[in-house]
Amino acid sequence: MSETSAEPTEPAAPDSTEAFDAGPAAGVRWDLSDLYAGPDDPAIDADLERCVGQARAFAAEYRGKLGSLDAAELARAVDAYEALQEPAWRASAYAGLLFAADTSAPRHGALLQHVQERGTEIRNELVFFELEWVALEDEAARALTEDPALAGRRHLLESLRRYRPHVLSEPEEKLLEETANTGSRAFSRLFDEILGAAKFRVELESGPKELSEEEALSLLYDADRDTRRAASRGLTEGLERHSRTLGFLFNTLVQDKAMQDRLRRYADPMDSRNLANEIDGASVRALMDACVGRYGLVARYYRLKRRLLGLDHLYEWDRYAPLAEPEGTRSFDAARELVLGAYADFAPRMAEIAAQFFDRRWIDAELRPGKRGGAFSASTVPGVHPYVMLNYTGQLRDVMTVAHELGHGVHQWLSRERGLFEQNTPLTTAETASVFGEMLVFRRLLREESDPTVRLALVCGKLEDAFATVFRQVAMTRFEQMLHAARREEGELPLERMNALWMDANRPMFGDSVELTDDYRWWWLYIPHFIHSPFYCYAYSFGELLVLALVRRYDEEGDAFVPRYLELLAAGGSQAPPTLVSRVGLDITDPAFWDGGLALLEDLVAEAEALAEGGGRAH
Ligand SMILES: [Zn+2]
Repeated sequence: MSETSAEPTEPAAPDSTEAFDAGPAAGVRWDLSDLYAGPDDPAIDADLERCVGQARAFAAEYRGKLGSLDAAELARAVDAYEALQEPAWRASAYAGLLFAADTSAPRHGALLQHVQERGTEIRNELVFFELEWVALEDEAARALTEDPALAGRRHLLESLRRYRPHVLSEPEEKLLEETANTGSRAFSRLFDEILGAAKFRVELESGPKELSEEEALSLLYDADRDTRRAASRGLTEGLERHSRTLGFLFNTLVQDKAMQDRLRRYADPMDSRNLANEIDGASVRALMDACVGRYGLVARYYRLKRRLLGLDHLYEWDRYAPLAEPEGTRSFDAARELVLGAYADFAPRMAEIAAQFFDRRWIDAELRPGKRGGAFSASTVPGVHPYVMLNYTGQLRDVMTVAHELGHGVHQWLSRERGLFEQNTPLTTAETASVFGEMLVFRRLLREESDPTVRLALVCGKLEDAFATVFRQVAMTRFEQMLHAARREEGELPLERMNALWMDANRPMFGDSVELTDDYRWWWLYIPHFIHSPFYCYAYSFGELLVLALVRRYDEEGDAFVPRYLELLAAGGSQAPPTLVSRVGLDITDPAFWDGGLALLEDLVAEAEALAEGGGRAH
């Protein structure tokens, strides 16, 4: 075992010998051999070694000379700079995937650390290049980027220069890079290891069960209220048990960010994220204000849900209660068929790309001890292909997760043509294809369903997902704003203070519709985004509202929209988000833009209310 076994409050799991239920996707494991044969494959070190060597040679050739290169020479240098890094990215992607598949294997953690340390060596050899580029005077830089020889690199070079006010000297950059391995990156990994190993004791009617975070969270969707309440209790107790360590990680990482922001001259804690997202603070504020202005929709919906469930009080563990009788778990094959079918309705090419993930074992879907919770799609490197990780339990929302992650997968597959530096988009547009993919599946389900009770349940399910993506993420971003501000003003924060901030951020969204108990105070502790990528969350709201606008376009334009959409995906991160989405006729710089998507959500709430009136009552 790793550091987590030293966790003093971790009790021995009483049923640790019990066979683990791998769920309906048992046996669905990815085959990582397209990257490397295994953690001991000598090619990993050979790749890293070659990278370090080439980085040194690159530095010997170009250090101190960037200002004297002409456009053609600079273009060659950028090509070399990109090509030499791909093997290291490959090794890094592999180590990350291996670790996600089993966070408990010490050699996975060790490989991750090893690759990170070699990666640091490489980055430190190369850091001069970007620093010299951003140090160029604007006029000289503009003359170069406007040269046709650099046409394909214009966006990359121009966007690097937005960091001009925030970069440090080369020795300072190197120090920060090296110390991150034992600082923020190490704490980030510890967070994954703690939650990967954590057991949550849930008192079920059949007796107590020790569950993983993923399993316990999925019981919040159970039809039985006592089960949901027990899962909620078990999660709270588990989080509280780890709260001292997790709270310490939060305090440390929030302070680490404050230090980085001070050194790099970012005035606001969100500035660095907005800059990375290639979106200005005003647009983000417009998005958040528009969402907060419609919080009333959340309360309106949950009042309806309380009535439909026939409850006097709707507690936090009732939020995800199913409205129709559960139709049993769905097999992984059924999920595959549904998602590929919905994709094919939109564009056969999209289904063909997605089918590869199943046929060529690019998906890991079964439940396993030590496997990271949640789901993701990793782009890896342009020369290989993306990999998708999920924890499939067979619920409808798991099917939606398949649709979501395969959306990412298709996006990453199409954009890999753009090469290493431009295959990934900023976070704001990174959620476009995923949320769009979910929408396609939702619409297909709704089309095929004639029973009003089930239709109502589907609409409610979509609304709950959309609320989780739009409003909840804004509430979480507001929590982070308060958390970072409080840490900067008040020093290390006691757990109770962080709990209070969490409640302050969440209460306004629910109004009087959901009663949040004291247990809910602890529920910020397991959110990985707060740890791994501060202020990530608003990108989900951005993505969902953008997708609602895209769906409206699709409805207006029909099939003509399809090739433009696929081109948008294939463009990857080769343009800034406002320019990218202007390709499909949308203007996200208009503050009123967000109201369009929010209005569609309001329509959906009204539809749910109408279905409920019309006898769609579920219970
Ligand atoms: Zn996603």
